[in-house]
Amino acid sequence: MLPSFKDMHIHLDKTLYADKWQAVRRAGGIKGMIELEQKVLPDMLKNSTYKAEKLIELLQSHGTGFARSHVNIEPTSKLDSLKNLEKALENKKASFGSELVAFPQHGLYYTDSLPYMKEAAKMDIDFIGGLDPTNVDGSIEKTIDTTVQLALDNNKGIDIHLHESGKSGHDTIDYLIKKVNENPGLEGKTFISHSFALATLDKNNLEATAEQLSNAQIGIISTIPFGKLIMPIPTLLKYNVNVMTGNDSIVDYWNTMGTGSVLQKANLAAQLYGQTSEFALSRMLRLATAGPIPLADNGVQQWPNAGDDADFILIDASCSAEAVSRISHVSSLIVKGNIIY
Ligand SMILES: [Zn+2]
Repeated sequence: MLPSFKDMHIHLDKTLYADKWQAVRRAGGIKGMIELEQKVLPDMLKNSTYKAEKLIELLQSHGTGFARSHVNIEPTSKLDSLKNLEKALENKKASFGSELVAFPQHGLYYTDSLPYMKEAAKMDIDFIGGLDPTNVDGSIEKTIDTTVQLALDNNKGIDIHLHESGKSGHDTIDYLIKKVNENPGLEGKTFISHSFALATLDKNNLEATAEQLSNAQIGIISTIPFGKLIMPIPTLLKYNVNVMTGNDSIVDYWNTMGTGSVLQKANLAAQLYGQTSEFALSRMLRLATAGPIPLADNGVQQWPNAGDDADFILIDASCSAEAVSRISHVSSLIVKGNIIY
């Protein structure tokens, strides 16, 4: 028995899952992808409630009982992607928890998304999203200032996509840290998804930035990329930065490789960072649960506690370390005491 899993970065609103499989179409960088989405989204929205429900069932079959979903808010979808996803979440609410990020996928200013974002911010969403301010909107300050103001005015958190890995990425991280320090109400509820720029900092700058992120209580959400770019997750954890993971894409126009399992992400992290001992493997479980693990570092049981919600999974493994190293089969998901899967 382990804590149920949480997928902390996914796009439930615009998936091709449960529809005809299609390979990705790379369409000339981020702006080419925006143009592609403007063409395909109206069609994708036609059955997006159904596909979101099927995708939620996939996540549940991998032991996930909660997701933070980004949802497109832009002039093509307007608020329809949000409305369709809200229907799916309503239908699944007894068995699946969620929080939503209003995501200006086509740029706050690159397309005229701000009026829709203002409307969405007043609705039942939890975070103001964002996307590569320099590459998409052409300015860090203008876009981040607006994002911060939307969050403050509507009492929401922030969770921005930041893929920019060079100087503009570093500068965006520094600027967001500065804004959170100026507005302590945003501490603990501000997140940077991907944040690839952290992978291109030298050791001293990385340690300093990790400390600043930790002090500002800004979390990092990583899909655990491998290949050319390896995220410095062990360093972030050393400074107690809140690191969480998610599948991001399962099957869509951006990527078709998502399994739906966050336990697989914990396994990937263990492999990437050489976490092979029983102790080290067991620590990686926190990536799948977004926090809680049964034993503290000193071996004292910390989960479950009397009075906790009955949210847990049953898994074919003898211990947390085995579950992470084998990506063990999840045999059951229990949400609020009800057997869901
Ligand atoms: Zn994303």
